[in-house]
Amino acid sequence: MNKTSIYGLTFNELEDWFEGKGEKKFRAKQVWDWLYVKRIRDFDDMTNIKKDTISLIKDHFYLESLELHSKQESKDGTKKFLFKLSDGNLIETVLMKFDYGNSVCVTTQVGCNIGCSFCASGLLKKDRDLTSAEIVEQILKVQFDMDDKQTEERVSHIVVMGIGEPFDNYDNLMSFLRIVNSDRGLAIGARHITVSTSGLVEKIRAFADENLQVNLAVSLHAPNNDLRSSIMKINKGQPIEDVMSAIDYYLEKTNRRITLEYILLDGVNDKPEHAKELAELVRDKKKLTYINLIPYNPVDEYIQYKQSEKGAILTFYDLLMKNGVQCGVRHEQGSDIDAACGQLRSKQMKKDREKAKS
Ligand code: SAH
Ligand code: SF4
Repeated sequence: MNKTSIYGLTFNELEDWFEGKGEKKFRAKQVWDWLYVKRIRDFDDMTNIKKDTISLIKDHFYLESLELHSKQESKDGTKKFLFKLSDGNLIETVLMKFDYGNSVCVTTQVGCNIGCSFCASGLLKKDRDLTSAEIVEQILKVQFDMDDKQTEERVSHIVVMGIGEPFDNYDNLMSFLRIVNSDRGLAIGARHITVSTSGLVEKIRAFADENLQVNLAVSLHAPNNDLRSSIMKINKGQPIEDVMSAIDYYLEKTNRRITLEYILLDGVNDKPEHAKELAELVRDKKKLTYINLIPYNPVDEYIQYKQSEKGAILTFYDLLMKNGVQCGVRHEQGSDIDAACGQLRSKQMKKDREKAKS
């Protein structure tokens, strides 16, 4: 029989599964408690569940499928995990420590088809979407790493900003969000979760309709179509005006704030005129937008892009503030271990290819 990962089921799906097998619904509550609260690593450790039921579970499901390939720790406490999937593909997951908690950055796809010109993840075309279980397991693996140290620490925040475009894997993303957010399991608060998209307009609207408290960030990176199309080819089919109108819909529907991400690339999009144009673009929604200025993390393959000068970053920031736009400059985490999106994976794949050749 073809088994699936038990981590891929939402609570309701597991309840339904038990019911379908003639078992009591409350088994789901017991099993989730073992999986996500006590965090067992072997089904046989579920001591309040009958042997027959455990056998039934084992006949249909497996537990872990990600294998730790390597782990790197930065001076600032950032940890980067490279995991091998059951089909041999590599993905990365990053843990960042902040004073407000432990935040995990998860990957949603193997590679990315959006192909932004500055991003290491787009160097390789998308091989496949991750399953909801594979996304959930990234959180669990990082949590297990903490559990093993017996520090009582927990993953308190999630950013969906690793490799891949989450809205290009929408259904699995939504299952993942429901699983990690559920009070019956890891109970990671929706307000502590942020999903970042390159701006798939239909999916921004669908996300607004979900009635969730999860935060949304949209990668804007440029204040006009010419510039945005030159660095993000997705802008050719889904231009800024469509993205902004989807954002308006989101704001109206949810009344939540939205984050716009803006990578600062030296000499490309970091000039004062760009800051002014950006302020103008968000003028009618200043109260509900926050612009996150991201210092570019250089990628070896893209010699054309450099991180903006400190002075240019400050001028950009000042101009936005002067125009009443709420913004901040993202603090770089783990840059000594290539913690930016897709970088460790792309380096490892390069090493593997070189090894294969020799
Ligand atoms: N695909 C989604 C989420 C993953 S990327 C998206 O594009 O939003 C998460 C963020 O990291 C995006 O804002 C992306 O533009 C940014 N990013 C990609 N490569 C980067 C790099 N080398 N340095 C800094 N930020 C980068
Ligand atoms: Fe994909 Fe996001 Fe990277 Fe663009 S920035 S290539 S959408 S992962």
